[in-house]
Amino acid sequence: SKIDITHLPSTQYVNTKSTLDSEDKDHLLHRSFIDPPSLVERAEGVNLFLSDGRKIIDACAGAAVALIGHGNKEVHQAIVNQLQKVSYVHTQSYTTQPAEDLANLILQGSPHGLEKAFFVGSGSEAVESALKLARQYYFEKNEPERLHIISRRQGYHGNTMATMTISGNLGRKVPFEGFSYPHTSQVSPAFAYRYMQEDETEMEYTPRLLREIEDEFLCVGPHKVMAFIAEPVAGSGIGSATPPAGYLAGLRALCDKYGVLLIFDEIMCGVGRTGTFFAFEQEGNAVPDIMTIAKGLGGGYAPISGVLVHKRVVDVLRHGSKAFNHGHTYQAHPTSCAAALAVQKIILRDGLIARCAAMGKILESMLRTELRDCWSVGDIRGRGLFWTVEFVKDKKTKETFDPRIHFGARVQQAAFDEGVALYPCSGTVDGKRGDHVMLAPPFIITEEELSTVCKVLREAIESQQQLFS
Ligand code: PLP
Repeated sequence: SKIDITHLPSTQYVNTKSTLDSEDKDHLLHRSFIDPPSLVERAEGVNLFLSDGRKIIDACAGAAVALIGHGNKEVHQAIVNQLQKVSYVHTQSYTTQPAEDLANLILQGSPHGLEKAFFVGSGSEAVESALKLARQYYFEKNEPERLHIISRRQGYHGNTMATMTISGNLGRKVPFEGFSYPHTSQVSPAFAYRYMQEDETEMEYTPRLLREIEDEFLCVGPHKVMAFIAEPVAGSGIGSATPPAGYLAGLRALCDKYGVLLIFDEIMCGVGRTGTFFAFEQEGNAVPDIMTIAKGLGGGYAPISGVLVHKRVVDVLRHGSKAFNHGHTYQAHPTSCAAALAVQKIILRDGLIARCAAMGKILESMLRTELRDCWSVGDIRGRGLFWTVEFVKDKKTKETFDPRIHFGARVQQAAFDEGVALYPCSGTVDGKRGDHVMLAPPFIITEEELSTVCKVLREAIESQQQLFS
């Protein structure tokens, strides 16, 4: 029977005072008091095994993380070997072989002029580090007025104070108004499905977006702008949206014109996820000055993220203060670096990025075929093994579902109940929550497993459509 939405909660941020039940005795603070997470006992390949006996296909690799799959014995061994040699040293005085080797492997031959890598623990830390590096660059260049960061609405760059400020995920900001980095502004995302006008071509959409960015530079005062930050292929904020042709190259040209640093956040879309090691490589090679990577770097075996720095930024510090005035206790942690090194060697040896590109084509065609007749599927977009299905109440007008329905989350739950885990990226559309699910499976997934995923997704969508038709 159909559901009456007037009784459903209205916001994404659940601000309820009376949900702590008497069973809530354990001490780990979960993400939600009312919705306890599933206990995972074991994970292997593309599968999670829950304590209640269920097997789940991890079709989103956690949050696009477990790129080589779970339970890889070679990575386990590399971690153990490293722990037996050196478990920790402080980077003020020491370095370790896996940290050196990891940087050398990723930046062998300084691809695109990217010369140095700085490893920290999480995506947010990497973005914070990138922003501080940009600031130090201008400090050393004697341009102290450059403090302003321009980002894009619906972008996501992290959950710490500065990274949250420059992110557009409204739901995550609700209780934290006032916690902010003061010098920021936002421009439109590159999101053709929602914002390219009906009578507009891609050739017109791109310059329109770029004009808006140039206007923002001029409005702030170009001499005050420190950095423009963007995800080359947008992640959880709007769901694997690729930019229109010429957009990244246009961004690069604008940043060059006004002497602004270009930061690419490839924390979700990088390390092969879109079918090339760097997502920006498929967009005309518009090279960033600083970039961040994370999820696929350690593949989930240990927390690690990286800031990759172009030679022109490195040179300013090299010939200036001769140090990056920033550091963390656990930066370049040897166990994390050993895990990431093992993951990256497996990716190279097994040709997993080429496999991701090939399997991505198969996944796209399966999604388009399987979901063809679902009236609530407004858009299917992505690249490589990074795909999003966006749901709408009306395909023609692209009207979103009432946010109280949580349509995307319902589809995600229905698929999970049938053994497939999807990523619930509920981005915002014009200030309202949109409804998406994201597929970002491990690169080792088979065609048969992809077929199961798509079939379960179709059934999940159909089960929810009939409740809200
Ligand atoms: N930047 C992007 C593009 C992300 O997708 C994320 C996480 O999803 C972050 C930054 C923040 O990373 P973390 O959650 O590891 O702090």
